[in-house]
Amino acid sequence: MSPNPENTLKRSSAQVCVIGAGIIGSWAALHLAEAGARVTLIEQFPLPHTRGSSHGLSRAFRFLGELELGRLDYSLDRWLALQQAIGEPLFVKTGLLNFGPPGDPELERFMNVLLDADRPVQWLENEKIAKRYPMLHYSEGWGAAFDPNGGILIAHRCLNAVQSRFVELGGKIVFGCVESLTELQSFDRTVVCAGPWTSRLVPGLKAHLSTLLTPVTYWHDPSGSYSASSGFPIIFNARLTDIYGIPACEYPGMMKMLYHGGPESDPDRRDSVSSEPYVDKVKRYVREHLPLLDHEQPAIRETCMYTMMSDGSPVIDRLDDNTAVGCGFSGSGFKHSPATGLMLAALALGQDEAIPDGFRADRYALDRLQPGMTP
Ligand SMILES: Cc1cc2nc3c(=O)[nH]c(=O)nc-3n(C[C@H](O)[C@H](O)[C@H](O)COP(=O)(O)OP(=O)(O)OC[C@H]3O[C@@H](n4cnc5c(N)ncnc54)[C@H](O)[C@@H]3O)c2cc1C
Repeated sequence: MSPNPENTLKRSSAQVCVIGAGIIGSWAALHLAEAGARVTLIEQFPLPHTRGSSHGLSRAFRFLGELELGRLDYSLDRWLALQQAIGEPLFVKTGLLNFGPPGDPELERFMNVLLDADRPVQWLENEKIAKRYPMLHYSEGWGAAFDPNGGILIAHRCLNAVQSRFVELGGKIVFGCVESLTELQSFDRTVVCAGPWTSRLVPGLKAHLSTLLTPVTYWHDPSGSYSASSGFPIIFNARLTDIYGIPACEYPGMMKMLYHGGPESDPDRRDSVSSEPYVDKVKRYVREHLPLLDHEQPAIRETCMYTMMSDGSPVIDRLDDNTAVGCGFSGSGFKHSPATGLMLAALALGQDEAIPDGFRADRYALDRLQPGMTP
């Protein structure tokens, strides 16, 4: 499947309110504005802010590790088109290594998705990794699948570019906190993209959503070995740990290491929660596998929120005839956000036919959580 990278929505003059100017709400708003709708994007905090899930300097874009390529292909096309339009890099191709033991069923499943679609992917044995990446240390019994097309999205610039384009098309960004969906009766349609705050507006989802405080750490790289400019790739681990890393390309000379998870935390009270045990796990990983980093302590610590769905897949669906919701992107929603925004815009306008088949909208339906569920 090769979906049309253009906006597939029919023209609309609807008045639409999108709640939440994170990356999901911003893309939904842009798609709606491209279709001619009169769109108001409502955000509770002054922009840019660091209290949700879309802030920061980088996000990994990977083909390896996903089971569906349709939403990724469409999204990469849109990111690259936006990059061309603004004349500044949004995507830096670095390649991506995903570590695991040879024959690991999950890694094989991910590799087969690419092989079946005639996409490049390569298995590297331990000796080959040691030769190609002498700054990494993995003991025997580890290998890695290499995806040459993975790379880094420059997150803060992506968010700004989407919002700027939305405003250029006549979209309005308004600051204020929506307390309840019933406040929005003056709009024809509503899209809820409230990230970790979603269950406040859609209480029926509360039982299925959890919000985690995720530690983000940066480590001095005195040798300069772990930078995107020197050809170092993104590193993932399919099974053995929940830790992953993004090569230095943002804070100069600092490799970014993340824990895929963290302690449960209310998004409005997150600064009272400690993620120290998770930082310790990252520290052990850095010491063992990235020995040339200054591994005593992270040089910079930041935090971010994950919104996890009970079954690991997001919800992209309608709550009623006029209201769509997108939430629960569980730590991996940035890369797909152009496709997710298109789906939400189509659902809000009642133009389900605009969603390409390869986007597998059925997988993200509310019904799968609880048949007949009406939040
Ligand atoms: C540390 C970290 C690393 C990640 N790494 C990757 C990665 O490598 N690759 C990848 O693809 N994805 C990654 N992700 C996931 C990705 O960043 C998120 O899935 C995505 O940013 C979610 O965006 P969102 O718009 O749903 O949520 P948010 O960015 O949280 O946006 C929701 C917005 O809604 C606003 N809001 C909420 N309630 C209201 C209200 N009532 N009224 C008005 N405004 C409201 C909030 O203030 C917020 O701005 C990562 C996430 C984190 C935290």
